Amino acid sequence: MNLRPIALASLLAASAATAAPILAPPAPLAKELQQYVRVPAGRIALTHVRVIDGTGAAPVEDATVLIDGAKIASVQPASAAVPAGYRAIDLTGASVIPGIVGMHNHMFYIARPNLDASGHAEEPLVVPQMTFSAPRLYLANGVTTMRTTGSVEPYADLNVKREIDAGRLVGPHMDVTGPYLEGSGSYFIQMHQIPSPEDARRTVAFWADQGVTSFKAYMNITRAELKAAIGEAHRRGLKITGHLCSVTYPEAAQLGIDDLEHGFFVNTQLDPGKQPDKCSGSAGDATIAAMKPGSPQANALIKLLVDRHVAVTSTLPVFAESLPLHEPLNPRAMAVLTPEAREAYLYNRNRAASRPPARAAEVRQGWENDLGLERQFVAAGGLLLAGPDPTGNGGVIPGFGDQRELELLVEAGFTPLEAIRIGTLNGAIFEGLQDRIGSIAPRKDADLVVIRGNPAADIHDVEKVETVFKDGVGYDSVKLLDSVKGRYGQY
Ligand SMILES: [Zn+2]
Repeated sequence: MNLRPIALASLLAASAATAAPILAPPAPLAKELQQYVRVPAGRIALTHVRVIDGTGAAPVEDATVLIDGAKIASVQPASAAVPAGYRAIDLTGASVIPGIVGMHNHMFYIARPNLDASGHAEEPLVVPQMTFSAPRLYLANGVTTMRTTGSVEPYADLNVKREIDAGRLVGPHMDVTGPYLEGSGSYFIQMHQIPSPEDARRTVAFWADQGVTSFKAYMNITRAELKAAIGEAHRRGLKITGHLCSVTYPEAAQLGIDDLEHGFFVNTQLDPGKQPDKCSGSAGDATIAAMKPGSPQANALIKLLVDRHVAVTSTLPVFAESLPLHEPLNPRAMAVLTPEAREAYLYNRNRAASRPPARAAEVRQGWENDLGLERQFVAAGGLLLAGPDPTGNGGVIPGFGDQRELELLVEAGFTPLEAIRIGTLNGAIFEGLQDRIGSIAPRKDADLVVIRGNPAADIHDVEKVETVFKDGVGYDSVKLLDSVKGRYGQY
C-alpha cells in the first residue's frame, strides 16, 4: 500500500490551515526598495558599540557585534580580532538595542469628520488605513516586530505582511490581529457587531483560516461571546487580548484571556452603575481613579492576573495625551502628519489643556494610579508589554509612539534598562519568539537598532535612531521617514 499520496495530502491540508509564521524566512528586497538600505546584508562587524542586550543586564561598553547574514554570529569585546571577511562599521559613541517588539501597533488612523476647535465632529467616525506610511514609520523608528492588536482591514494587513515578507514592501515582521471582536453598540461603523457566542466562534475560526495570528476583543463584547472567542482561538493555538469595558478585568482573567490592553486604564470593575455585559458610561475612568496601587482591590486583581498568566500591555502615550500639555511637540513626528491630521491633533491638544479642573484632577489621579499599578504588576512577576496605540489622537504616531512608550515607562519609575526590556524581550516572550528575537545574543535574528547616544543613561536617546537592522539588512531611518513626510493621516 502506497502511503505517500495520503501523507502528502494531509501535509498540504495542514499547511493550508497554518498561518504564515510571524517571523518569515528573509527574502531578497525588491530593487526599487534598495534606496532605503544603508547596510546591505552580509558579514558585518559593528565595532566599538555599546550593547544594551534587552534582558535588563548592564550595557557592555566597547563591544563588537558580528552579524552573519540574517543572524547575530557573536558579541565580543572590541579587543578581540574581527574575523576575515567582515565589513567593519565603527560605531564609537553609539549603542545597539534589540529591535522593538511593538504590542499595540495599529495600521490605521482615526479621522473625525469636520472636527472643529471645540472638539465637535460629525458622525460617523471613520478609520482610514495607513498601509503605506505605518509600516515605514514603525521600521524607521526601530520596531522590527509588531502585533496589529485589532484590525479594521484585516485583508489589507494580511496582504501587507505577505508583501513585506516577500521583500516587495518595507516594514516590520507582523503578527496580524483579526478584526476587532466587538459586540453590539459599537461607535465604529467599520466593525462587525457580534450578535451571539456562536458568531464569535465562527468569526475567530474564519479569520484564523485566513491567516491572522492573534485576536482582540473589544469594548461591547459579552462574557459569553468572549468565552466562545477565547475557546476557539485557544483551540487553534492563538492568543487573544482585549480592550475591554463590558467585561471587567477579573471576569476576563477568569475566562482565560491572554493579555489586557491599555494597562489598568480600561478595567471597569469599580465603575458606578456597571451592569454585567454592558460597557459603563465612564469606560474605566472611575475604576482607575479609585484603584490605588497597594489597595486590597489592586492586590487581589494583580494576584489574579499573575496567577492566570495574563499579560498587560502598557500603552502610555495615548493616555499621556489626556494630561494637559504633558506631551512634548516632537517636530520630527509632526512632520510626518498631513496638514489636516496636524490641525486635528493641535485641536485635541488644546482641548486637553482647557479641561475643567475637577475632570483634570480625575485624569491626573488615574494616570498616577496606572503608573503605580504597572510597577506593582511587574514587581509581582507579571509580564508587562509595550505599545503606543497610534489612534484617535494624532499625537501618537507609529514608531515615534513606540519610542515615547519607553520614555513614559521611565517616567513611571522603571529604569531605562527595564523599559527597554519591556519593549523588546517581554514582547518576544509573549509571542513565544524569545529564542529568535527580543535580545541581542549569538544565533538570534539580526534585528537590532543602532542609536546615536546612550538610552541606558538617558532614555530619550531612543529617538536618535540611525540604522535599523531587520534580518541583517540595515535600513536607513532618515530615508524611510523622508518617504512618508506629510503622509500619515492620508494613506
Ligand atoms: Zn488600540
